[in-house]
Amino acid sequence: AKKLGRNNFQFYTPAMNEESLERVRIESALRNALERNEFVLHYQPQVDLQTGRIVGMEALIRWKHPELGMVPPSRFIGIAEDTGLIVPIGAWVMRTACAQNKAWHDAGLGKLRVAVNLSARQFGAADLLPGIEAVLGDTGLDPSCLELELTESLFMSDVTPAVELLHRMKSLGVNLSIDDFGTGYSSFSYLSRFPIDVLKIDRSFVNDITHDANDAAIVASIIALAHNLRLSVIAEGVETAEQLDYLRHQGCDEMQGYYFSKPLPAHEFEQLLRQRRGL
Ligand code: C2E
Ligand code: CA
Ligand code: CA
Ligand code: CA
Repeated sequence: AKKLGRNNFQFYTPAMNEESLERVRIESALRNALERNEFVLHYQPQVDLQTGRIVGMEALIRWKHPELGMVPPSRFIGIAEDTGLIVPIGAWVMRTACAQNKAWHDAGLGKLRVAVNLSARQFGAADLLPGIEAVLGDTGLDPSCLELELTESLFMSDVTPAVELLHRMKSLGVNLSIDDFGTGYSSFSYLSRFPIDVLKIDRSFVNDITHDANDAAIVASIIALAHNLRLSVIAEGVETAEQLDYLRHQGCDEMQGYYFSKPLPAHEFEQLLRQRRGL
């Protein structure tokens, strides 16, 4: 502890660098962010590769902090997970995304599927299942229009959901997908045991498919694997026409990426939908 004037002690060690100080600031600000309404969702279109139509969107959280500015999820999701704040934040994301999707449906903008990211920490919370049920009931969203994105890390963590929990989630009528597929603990055993609907190919593989023969082979194999298991497959992080051509040629079902659109604020996403539907 270093003395700073009469009554002020600042605990400072060389290890406590800029980054950990920022972490502390973010953690305390995060505690109030929900009540202060500082979160927003952006929506990134998911496009059917056969028809070119927008069939769904991924809801991605952003934090507009009055002093820290725009804080990207990479800077706060990990902290929210460590502190458990991800549980109420995740519940807010689910409710907001479902209500928005229902509103677009009611406005005649189509029956879209909204994908919501679930962190492993949310699986430890007892009210996950009743929470999803309540959101579906309150918003009136057709359960088939909600997709929950899980990551492979879930299957190797100590909160590994019982197969029954995933089956109970499925029995609500929602879709389950594996996010960032191929980057984590990819075990074929969970693919056959768990009621998964969709594989999302991680963008690190998609990135190099046109330059790296190994990545191209991995992507082609994931698509074939998914289809052999009767799963649907979506490629993330598609940025170029060449990547798109390759994916289409391999029979990939859907794509998501900057080539089509960045994640958009709700009103811009809605404009895009209206424009594409000629409304
Ligand atoms: P993710 O689930 O893998 O989401 C995809 C990320 O890739 C998003 O970053 C998106 O903006 C970005 N992306 C999409 N297309 C492209 C592309 O063509 N090129 C490149 N370079 N990037 C692309 P974002 O929005 O910054 O989110 C980062 C991560 O934060 C997400 O990765 C997810 O793990 C987490 N996250 C975001 N929102 C939530 C949430 O509501 N709940 C939880 N638990 N995690 C969230
Ligand atoms: Ca995701
Ligand atoms: Ca992903
Ligand atoms: Ca990711």
